[in-house]
Amino acid sequence: MEENYDIAVVGGGPAGLSAAWAAARKGAKVILFEKDEAIAHSVRTSGVSWIVEMEKLGITSEFYNPISNYQFISPANEVLISGDTPRSCVLDVRKTYQHLAFLAAEAGAALKVRSNVINVVRDDAGRVTGVKASTPAGDLTVNCALVIDSSGFSTAIGRKAGLAGEWRRYGVGAEYECYCDNADSDTWTLMVGQQYSEAGYAWVFPLSRNRVRIGVGIGRPESQADPLEKLQVLMENRLRPLDRLGKVQPVELHYGFIPNEGVRQATVSDGLMMVGDSAGQANPLVLEGIRYAIEFGRLAGEVGANSIAAGARRESLMEYEKVWKSKIASKISSALKVQSRWIGLSDEEWDKEIEILRDMTVDEFLDFIKADFSAGKMMKLALHHPRLAARQLFNMVLKS
Ligand SMILES: Cc1cc2nc3c(=O)[nH]c(=O)nc-3n(C[C@H](O)[C@H](O)[C@H](O)COP(=O)(O)OP(=O)(O)OC[C@H]3O[C@@H](n4cnc5c(N)ncnc54)[C@H](O)[C@@H]3O)c2cc1C
Repeated sequence: MEENYDIAVVGGGPAGLSAAWAAARKGAKVILFEKDEAIAHSVRTSGVSWIVEMEKLGITSEFYNPISNYQFISPANEVLISGDTPRSCVLDVRKTYQHLAFLAAEAGAALKVRSNVINVVRDDAGRVTGVKASTPAGDLTVNCALVIDSSGFSTAIGRKAGLAGEWRRYGVGAEYECYCDNADSDTWTLMVGQQYSEAGYAWVFPLSRNRVRIGVGIGRPESQADPLEKLQVLMENRLRPLDRLGKVQPVELHYGFIPNEGVRQATVSDGLMMVGDSAGQANPLVLEGIRYAIEFGRLAGEVGANSIAAGARRESLMEYEKVWKSKIASKISSALKVQSRWIGLSDEEWDKEIEILRDMTVDEFLDFIKADFSAGKMMKLALHHPRLAARQLFNMVLKS
């Protein structure tokens, strides 16, 4: 089978769904392929985000559990940063992504689930001119002016088209969504130190008093440990703070990979754009990328739709790359510096390091963890926080 579209979107995560929605709204004829049997069938994320950013993107309170307090646990220390109002949130991931899918469908995009894109089609000059997919109705070739690669970590199309390589630094995470007797639904917890993760951290993110996501993330290549094994140990030994949750019963396993080496240098070429994790649009401090996937997915869809009349040449797609890089590229490179310091800390060093957080106000903490670094904010932090470790940390960001 062969069909013609303006834009083919590869991947039905937040980036692809947002791109499909924005492009269809602009009048482009759009098809989106998702290889899983449903949108958000396999959850690969913990769903922590920030309320202001989500509301701006139209993800309202029906899609998340609000969070006011932030707890850090190290082998022999514990810090709680309490806020008056909720600023962070834990998303109902399936509900949120399916909402994005319904928006895209309403705008006119064709959504094909159980449809795996297996190759790109290129013309004699090497320019991408379509994709080949295996669908429940048989093999389908789509000819189009533009392909948007929103396939996540795998960067399925960017790699096939020679625009991107494999990620060398990345995080791998395993998480159980669980019933529990007694979670504090206003507080999320990050746990650091060897027993939780040799290169990374573990977490407890609540969706309600009786529903939590408990997970372990590990950085490669620093550690080859299996996050699922670490998670089993954490659950079986009821390491802090699991000892406070009462009975814990896993109901669903989530497993996924996230790029962790900074942004891709090139994210557009003739007839091709990359967005979301495939473009490296993720904050490495808490490995979060959903807000960027939605925001820059929409941007990619708009710029892409506007470029169709001119043949979706690289020059007309560059506006997308310029805008998203100006918003996050330097933040992500600063966040990588902080992460490189954190990834090498021993248990004793972690016990001291989390003391830096104890001195922070909620606003300071949130700016920091969201990688909202500006020279002004970092100068203030360095001046207001007398501990040597804090100064070292903030100065390191300033020198980026
Ligand atoms: C363990 C873990 C925890 C995380 N926690 C958070 C968090 O708390 N908060 C946060 O903001 N971010 C978090 N992230 C990161 C977040 O999940 C990503 O940044 C986000 O999902 C990126 O969206 P995306 O649409 O680019 O990619 P994805 O969400 O990965 O979506 C890609 C989609 O493409 C599909 N696909 C891939 N290849 C093909 C193909 N060839 N054909 C058709 N379909 C294909 C996949 O099935 C998938 O549905 C976490 C990541 C991991 C791994």
